[in-house]
Amino acid sequence: MNAPSRGRLIVISGPSGAGKSTLLKKLFECCAGLAVSISATTRPPRPGERHAVDYYFLTPEEFQRRRNAGEFLECYEVFGRGYWYGTLVSEVAPSLEAGKSIVLEIDVQGAMAVLERYHAAITIFVHPSSTEELERRLRGRGTESEDSIQRRLEVARRELACADRYQHQVVNDDVDQAVQEICDIIRSKEV
Ligand code: 5GP
Repeated sequence: MNAPSRGRLIVISGPSGAGKSTLLKKLFECCAGLAVSISATTRPPRPGERHAVDYYFLTPEEFQRRRNAGEFLECYEVFGRGYWYGTLVSEVAPSLEAGKSIVLEIDVQGAMAVLERYHAAITIFVHPSSTEELERRLRGRGTESEDSIQRRLEVARRELACADRYQHQVVNDDVDQAVQEICDIIRSKEV
């Protein structure tokens, strides 16, 4: 009889503007059976975002209450955002217990905290193809002031400086290729 397969935590980080959302969308299409962890946050929803789909949008009081109750696997006030974000144990535990791997898209502090608790977690850092491309994407979003763009670039530089703390680094030059690389990493760790 084959041993039951075990679910793995797959932690993906990288600066905003590295094209992570498109990449993750494609990853779920291509890597069947992966679950996604919906994070909780105190930031207000952006237009089109839905509660319990994009995030669990919590008031600061509710977030704090759940934090005190030990409901988070990790939670941080994410640098440069001014809001709290966290991974709920209730998002992750059922998947792992069912032998399903689950993807967490979280910041560097969160990633390191998860790794401390789950040594078998797989950590992957997604790079933009270049810093010029990152700046182009941030500017391409349109409405942001120069101040805000500079702040986001500073956040990105801080994140990029932590890339070597991850087990794997993937450059998002070509999204299909980057997705394939991530699928290969995940498959190579399957037991
Ligand atoms: P955004 O507000 O643009 O959706 O996300 C901002 C940042 O929060 C991203 O860098 C993302 O990786 C991070 N983030 C999202 N969810 C979590 C979480 O549950 N924990 C941590 N530590 N960071 C998160």
